[in-house]
Amino acid sequence: MKAALLTKYKKPLEIVDLTLSNLVENEVRVRVLAASVCHTDLTMHQGLFPFPVPSVIGHEVTGVVEAVGAGVHRLKPGDSVVGFPVGYCGYCPSCNRGDTYLCSGEQTLRPDRVALDGTPIFTMGGFGAFAEEIIGHEHSFVQVPKALPPQQATLLGCGVSTGLGAALHTAPIKPGDCVVVIGCGAVGLSVIQGARIVGATRIIAVDLAPGKLDVAKALGATDCLNASEQQAPETVLEMTSGGADVAFECVGKPETTAQAVQMIRRGGTTVLVGMMELGASINIPGTDFLTTGKRLVASVLGETRVKVDIDRYVALIESGELNLDPLISRRFTLDEINDALESLESGQVIKPVIAFGDLS
Ligand SMILES: [Zn+2]
Ligand SMILES: [Zn+2]
Repeated sequence: MKAALLTKYKKPLEIVDLTLSNLVENEVRVRVLAASVCHTDLTMHQGLFPFPVPSVIGHEVTGVVEAVGAGVHRLKPGDSVVGFPVGYCGYCPSCNRGDTYLCSGEQTLRPDRVALDGTPIFTMGGFGAFAEEIIGHEHSFVQVPKALPPQQATLLGCGVSTGLGAALHTAPIKPGDCVVVIGCGAVGLSVIQGARIVGATRIIAVDLAPGKLDVAKALGATDCLNASEQQAPETVLEMTSGGADVAFECVGKPETTAQAVQMIRRGGTTVLVGMMELGASINIPGTDFLTTGKRLVASVLGETRVKVDIDRYVALIESGELNLDPLISRRFTLDEINDALESLESGQVIKPVIAFGDLS
């Protein structure tokens, strides 16, 4: 089967033929219908996160189960599934508390599931999404309705769940609250929709790209602020007469995190959502932070408990409250994977989707 192989950091991915291993206990094999590119894929591609090469990157994916190994009870051939980069073991302290998104997932990561000419290849998230077929632990996949279009389903694998869940689960948003969202990529646009769904009445979107701010407005932002034209923290403080109730940092940079903390009111909450580069440190003035009673909290995968929350997210898509179409501005084939990475890097495309065959 064909897959996009990362052989060297920063170099174009190569389309190669890989061999899948035979299924072992608790594994499923999935024929991929669609995958999508997340900023973390760019981080891996650029070598900014420790990751072995050669490897198959990509961690947002949807497809159809082709075969299941021994001991798989939750999934069967023919099921439509979405892959998740953090599988859960089911028995560690985090899983026992129900916080499956905090599981290290090590038990679901097997290093030798695909091979190139007999040499085992590492796969991101335990499956490596940029491939025609993938193998992974059953806890890395969740069933979704067959009627859910693959180009939407794949987005639930990371970015959309992360943003939506940050608003629904991590943030203490109350009806009538004012929130600010820094960064209007797929994650930020999902935060905006989550904030609208929970009842925030003022949603201030901050970005550098006018096109993304237009999409933010269409999806629920009440105010848009172009940070290349205005000093974002000062402007937000002025607009809100003292600060927003909740700020979401969806860029993954220490500077914008410090700005997000500046933008909230006394006692307000800043939620860290964007993935930071390895080694990045956050620097905020301690005395001001303490005396204003502000809170700073990190949201891992939007605190999405895949076994229960994906059904809720799908219900929001079906009801029209969560609109994913504006996020998908361009589709690519697997052969065009490097164009897809570049389109996300340059900001031309909010969420590049790799289609395997014709998607309706
Ligand atoms: Zn666990
Ligand atoms: Zn991701």
